[in-house]
Amino acid sequence: MAGSVAILHASELVTLAGPARPRVGNELRELGIIRDGAILARDGQIKAVGPSEEIVRRLPNDIEVIDARGQVVLPGFIDAHAHPVFGGNRIDEFEMRAGGASYEEIATSGGGIRSTVRKTRAASEDQLLAEAQRRAAWFLRCGTTTMEAKSGYGLSLEEELKILRVIRRLNETTPIEFVPTFLGAHAIPEEFGDRPNEYVDCLVDEMIPEVVRQNLAESCDIFCERGYFNAAATRRVLGAARTAGLKLRMHADQLTNSGGAALAAELGATTADHLEQTDAAGIAALGKANVQPVLLPGSVYAIGSTRYPQARTMIQAGLAIVLATDFNPGSSPTPSIPMVLSLAATQMKMTPAEAITAVTINAAYSLGRGGKIGSLEPGKLANFLICEVKDYRELAYWFGLPLIEAVYVRGRRGSGVSA
Ligand SMILES: [Zn+2]
Repeated sequence: MAGSVAILHASELVTLAGPARPRVGNELRELGIIRDGAILARDGQIKAVGPSEEIVRRLPNDIEVIDARGQVVLPGFIDAHAHPVFGGNRIDEFEMRAGGASYEEIATSGGGIRSTVRKTRAASEDQLLAEAQRRAAWFLRCGTTTMEAKSGYGLSLEEELKILRVIRRLNETTPIEFVPTFLGAHAIPEEFGDRPNEYVDCLVDEMIPEVVRQNLAESCDIFCERGYFNAAATRRVLGAARTAGLKLRMHADQLTNSGGAALAAELGATTADHLEQTDAAGIAALGKANVQPVLLPGSVYAIGSTRYPQARTMIQAGLAIVLATDFNPGSSPTPSIPMVLSLAATQMKMTPAEAITAVTINAAYSLGRGGKIGSLEPGKLANFLICEVKDYRELAYWFGLPLIEAVYVRGRRGSGVSA
């Protein structure tokens, strides 16, 4: 039967079993590990988890049995912040930065987000899909089985719809589940130059209603930052999105502390993402409003900054922390959650257990899927990884090499594109 398999003899079956809500405080360190663990999946769903000797006794005759040979098994990674659909790349800018140019200098000289917008608009829907499918295979190889996908490199109604249709087709043609977010408010497009308010009108009056009418997104996001969208514009865009029935996410306090975290709290956003510059008052506001912080250390590392978000302060404040890649062609060209685990431990002083919770069960709740994925418990989807390590902590410790031996999505071993 498709999607039916039993995995036996995991050195550690990292279940993340626990309360049916995002984990906070010390709960972030409780991984629900079963030693010499096993998992039984039927029709893509988890039927049982437990010690191998117990699961062996209830194995159906017709089921495929895999011996994990003392390796670690854990839930598939969930990447809650990614920009996977865009034309081309920014290798030239990457080389300029290696030569000393700053991210801001490159943006003012016509590079940055706008250069990717030009390449994305020039690409056909099929070309964008082919490029994104290649990237989806990278994510899968790095252990990601569910990911958010933002639009945001089209910046006009037609071009944003084109990107959102590509995301829908990625869902149909790859094993990964993509959760679509509308990010028309990623930057002010060139043709609106010095008329940013008119672009905000266009977002509110035309783009958001049409995206919702075509049912192409679950959430709406905005780049709330000096030179992009200020607090007033953010209130208008996210207010319209909420009224239209979308959930809210926000790029907040990445380059400057502009009160983004407090604004996300005020607007009732599901997540506030980045938060490199957020201060204590911002963190307190997020806690009060139950906004989940999505921290993106790959983008700090790749632009050569050392200002990582204050993860320890956020954990102490009781926030249900999430980690993600921020995969994009400019500031974070990595699809690798294992790389993010390494950065979380070395640069943000999160323990390996906290980091794993932040890319599994907490990430699942931030995407509205906490009841379906993010832990290995009966009734959830059989999305899990077999890793070439004996101890889960090794996943954050060794870095720069692939340690994922096998990826299962809905009980099937995942590989590439099924177009
Ligand atoms: Zn982003």
